[in-house]
Amino acid sequence: MLDTRRVGWDFCTDAETQTQLDWVETFVREEVEPLDFVIDNARDVRDPIRQELIPPLQAVVRERGLWSAHLEPKWGGQGCGHLHLALLEEILGRSRTAPMVFGCQSPDSGNAQIIARYGTAEQRGTYLQPLLDGHIVSCFSATEPQSGADPKMYTTSAHLDGDEWVISGEKWFSSGLEYSAFAIVMAVTDPDAGPYHQLSAFFVPTDKPGIEVIRNVSVGNHTEPIHSYVRYDDVRVAGDSLLGDRGDAFAVMQTRMSHARLSLATRSLGQMRRAIDLMAERAVSRTTQGELLANKQLVQDHIANSKIEFEMFRLLVLRTAWLLDRMDFKAARADIAAVKVMLPKVMADIGRRAAQIHGSLGVSDEMPFVGMVNSALAFGVADGPTEVHKMTVARALLHDAKPASGLFPSYHLPERREAARERYAEVLARHGRRR
Ligand SMILES: Cc1cc2nc3c(=O)[nH]c(=O)nc-3n(C[C@H](O)[C@H](O)[C@H](O)COP(=O)(O)OP(=O)(O)OC[C@H]3O[C@@H](n4cnc5c(N)ncnc54)[C@H](O)[C@@H]3O)c2cc1C
Repeated sequence: MLDTRRVGWDFCTDAETQTQLDWVETFVREEVEPLDFVIDNARDVRDPIRQELIPPLQAVVRERGLWSAHLEPKWGGQGCGHLHLALLEEILGRSRTAPMVFGCQSPDSGNAQIIARYGTAEQRGTYLQPLLDGHIVSCFSATEPQSGADPKMYTTSAHLDGDEWVISGEKWFSSGLEYSAFAIVMAVTDPDAGPYHQLSAFFVPTDKPGIEVIRNVSVGNHTEPIHSYVRYDDVRVAGDSLLGDRGDAFAVMQTRMSHARLSLATRSLGQMRRAIDLMAERAVSRTTQGELLANKQLVQDHIANSKIEFEMFRLLVLRTAWLLDRMDFKAARADIAAVKVMLPKVMADIGRRAAQIHGSLGVSDEMPFVGMVNSALAFGVADGPTEVHKMTVARALLHDAKPASGLFPSYHLPERREAARERYAEVLARHGRRR
């Protein structure tokens, strides 16, 4: 018999978590969001204004027990789980600075996770601890000018020379390289191995000779150029600089990406919610042709579609976080991919509608909506293009699909009808219905 008490279907946040989230909401709005307007880049530890304003807020977050919520307590984090983290990041995502204040900014959060998982005790001391202390930031250097989505095409190489590795090649879009203390660099160490075992991951301190930034690139026209096109020219690192086993960089990257992809989505939720709130505010503030925008049905259409799409997407994101609390990321791979497919679409649609309702103000640099559309473009590419994630979703479904046993599909209406009529032939006959 169905035990209704055991139905695990609950959209509530427990009281203790909600109290924490309420505190975060107020703290971010009152203390952190203003910093977005005086600090250009919260990860740029070279900026003295950033160095003066951010550490005191980080101390408050530590005191509150919310520092580095994504990491397990044994590595110095809170280990609060994916769902709790998603609810937290939803609030943090409203501010560019907030993830840094809470010690869970990308790409450091993903880098910290792979160092915790694959690093040696010594590497954790050298790289993870200062990251957790908030003293340094880090870079992930994988994409190359000729290939991003297909790491099998990377050509940056590393070979042993005595007891040192020598790394040579070019990387593209290595975000934040110039102010990072170290980069995690993917390089081919075993060109004759199978396609998924040629690459290894290396720690490369960024003060090593031979690292040359060719130029820095920005997303769109108006943001600070922080994505480095970089040349590693015979860069020498110690023999024990491998992160994980030689030839295992694919596994390292997969671990990192699952968290990074979900985080992109959770952080975007807060921006989408704010855009919808602003749409509603504008609709009840602005009058045209004698009535409020709110009374125009096509404006209502923009608002309704945005709200519905937002809520659908948010449920998908939170359900995926909930799944990750219960299973290995490999089992949730298709769910993460589905989130990654929907993120740019929902973000762009909401940003575009919010801009539209705000008219010329909406498309100006005085409102955040064009930035949202820009971000959506980047989200369709960063951490793997939408097309690749769609294939992941489709393949997972197709993997479990069985071919039809006969000529027609298993739910072929004439056959189902015939079977049902045969089963209930006696009842039909009693009621004078012909088969
Ligand atoms: C904001 C931002 C930050 C980034 N930060 C970093 C970073 O810190 N470190 C780093 O290493 N990289 C970073 N990247 C790079 C990112 O990882 C790559 O852009 C991504 O992997 C795609 O690679 P690509 O740009 O070379 O595109 P390509 O691999 O050339 O793909 C281009 C297009 O081809 C199509 N395509 C590709 N593969 C397939 C396929 N299998 N099936 C169908 N169509 C396909 C898609 O339309 C895709 O968008 C960042 C990118 C952005 C936008």
